[in-house]
Amino acid sequence: MPTCPECENSLDIEMDEVEEGDVVACEECGTEFEVVGVEPLELARVEAEIEEEDDLFNTEEEEE
Ligand SMILES: [Zn+2]
Repeated sequence: MPTCPECENSLDIEMDEVEEGDVVACEECGTEFEVVGVEPLELARVEAEIEEEDDLFNTEEEEE
């Protein structure tokens, strides 16, 4: 069983039932993780706070 990278609590994940893109939450610390891969299982922490991406508005530089 996978463990929470944050608090090392065992995550209640059914390996047969999770799919890529699923979001699972750690019952112990409440951190949410997105399943980014299932073989092997790979979790990416879901950030609750939305980061400001100012760079998004500066992508229109023209290349000569
Ligand atoms: Zn946790």
